[in-house]
Amino acid sequence: MSSKPRPRPDVFNTGFWQAAREGRFTIQRCDDCGDAHYPGTPVCPKCLSSSQSWAPASGRGTLLSWVRFHRAYWDGFREEVPYGVVLVGLEEGPMMLSNLVGAEPEDCTIGEKLEVTLDTSDPEWTLPKWRRVGRA
Ligand SMILES: [Zn+2]
Repeated sequence: MSSKPRPRPDVFNTGFWQAAREGRFTIQRCDDCGDAHYPGTPVCPKCLSSSQSWAPASGRGTLLSWVRFHRAYWDGFREEVPYGVVLVGLEEGPMMLSNLVGAEPEDCTIGEKLEVTLDTSDPEWTLPKWRRVGRA
């Protein structure tokens, strides 16, 4: 069994993980002002409304930055170091930390367009990851 850390579902992120499990990529939207944010928050960071919903997101983003981890902070990552972590700017505005699939970050250009892909390899969690557009 993998000893990688798993998402910890709570009242603010359960909607996100449930949608991912159903094959949908979502971001939190304020029901009152429409502000898009991620990760989920108890109140809208813009207008403080507590009325928030998980809304469909485009799944398009931009590579903002990346880093390569050379140290395994969890045993489950030990065999994968050095692994890349990317910072993606979602088309709707929020940013997301994730992994790149099908390419190495070094091969990409900052500002390059990425698209989400839902990784269903974990039996319990569907993890949004990112790939270069048009390069599968
Ligand atoms: Zn709002």
